[in-house]
Amino acid sequence: MKLVFERSRKGAGTSYFPANDVEDRVLPEHLLRETPLRLPELSETQISRHYTKLASEVFGVNNGFYPLGSCTMKYNPRINEKIAALDGFRNIHPLQSDDTIQGALEVLSLAEKYFCEITGMDNMTFQPSAGAHGELTGVLLIKAYHHSRGDFGRTRIIVPDSAHGTNPATASMAGFTVVTIPSGKDGRVDIEALQAAAGDDVAGIMLTNPNTVGIFEKDILKITEIVHKAGGLAYYDGANLNAIMGIARPGDMNFDIVHLNLHKTFSTPHGGGGPGSGPVGCKEFLSRFLPGPVCVDEGGSYKTIMPAYSIGRVKSFYGNFLVVLRALAYVMTLGSDGIRTSCEQAVLNANYMKRRLEERFESAFAGHCMHEFVLTLAGLKKETGVSALDFAKALLDEKMHPPTMYFPLIVPEALMLEPTETESLQEMDRAVDVYMRLFELAHSDPEYFHTAPHTTSVKRPDEVLAAREPKLRYGFSE
Ligand SMILES: *Cc1c(COP(=O)(O)O)cnc(C)c1O
Repeated sequence: MKLVFERSRKGAGTSYFPANDVEDRVLPEHLLRETPLRLPELSETQISRHYTKLASEVFGVNNGFYPLGSCTMKYNPRINEKIAALDGFRNIHPLQSDDTIQGALEVLSLAEKYFCEITGMDNMTFQPSAGAHGELTGVLLIKAYHHSRGDFGRTRIIVPDSAHGTNPATASMAGFTVVTIPSGKDGRVDIEALQAAAGDDVAGIMLTNPNTVGIFEKDILKITEIVHKAGGLAYYDGANLNAIMGIARPGDMNFDIVHLNLHKTFSTPHGGGGPGSGPVGCKEFLSRFLPGPVCVDEGGSYKTIMPAYSIGRVKSFYGNFLVVLRALAYVMTLGSDGIRTSCEQAVLNANYMKRRLEERFESAFAGHCMHEFVLTLAGLKKETGVSALDFAKALLDEKMHPPTMYFPLIVPEALMLEPTETESLQEMDRAVDVYMRLFELAHSDPEYFHTAPHTTSVKRPDEVLAAREPKLRYGFSE
């Protein structure tokens, strides 16, 4: 489809306003642009059609089934949007003084209270703007803690191979050496390997739980114990909190730090690169290192302070405030019962789909899953030549979003499904029927899959080229 720049025609723009009859005030010479702005010229009708067409090319959770494993693409209740759009929240400025933004500070303070309650932590920062950003913040807390004790020898961080890919990336970005430990056949951390890796050069562990294959680490207390005994700290990647919220708390599993993905678990629209929030909670002995400013409740009035040994700011001001507000609205409307029910429903839905699909498909791991599960299409590919990629492409023609593919890396031809709690039984049954039908079709007409998708405007983009040479701006010819 053509871009606005390509549709532009000189003089095509329309304005409904009468010509300006006020004298122009010209800016000082040194502030003027050297080249005129190159704005496309289109009529309002053309603009309106252009954006309506663009919107119709997008597929989101409001269009249909979107089981993108690891991303928790749940439906985001509209009431959260309404609250985030309230004038008093939207039109304040972060440079206003504390006494003029008491309501906003109360939001941050309440959010800290609720999310500490949900995670079993003592304090929380809302500055990080995404999950990976929260991880970096958390690992910097680990570093600050060890350095504050004069212990500079802890240079390694343990990361199981079933961790989310951002975990090792974070540890390495924070200057640590990553020690990868393998998982056992059941997809869980190999405790002996962990024991062998734990030593006085270990700063801590980063544990994704449930891990990326959708399995709860049943030896979790043993895991934190081993790491603590070696003098390290335990970091909980809580981006998958949808699987445990309202039932179990990382703090009670003896983790020292946790991050949440408000844009996954706590209902902020995501997936299009919009603002996110990856708050980090910690136990009290780490609170003095948190990024600032943090908000303190002085019995009904609020002020912001910098923690005594703060690692500094990790983002401007208070983080993505309106995302925190949406999340707060979400937990307050659900209440503690609702949070627990959402979690139970998410896990039930995933197990339902897993069981039904297992009539044809091969699961990467047997038994119950948590909020998501992994299929392997290695067998199907061997038999028919249809790969996980081909299968995902064919799903596009069925008007449903494909699952996450080729992730986690430890499973060949992986498809990872996470239906979330907001899908109905009917919708999941419809999806299962489609998967079954395509499974049969792969055997009778594999060629159909190699040329899929057949109905979308973009078919098979060159993903390597797109990643290596992204075109992020329009190339004007003159
Ligand atoms: C999504 C996810 C992350 C990264 O979060 P971003 O907001 O995408 O940076 C980290 N860990 C896990 C387990 C995740 O699912």
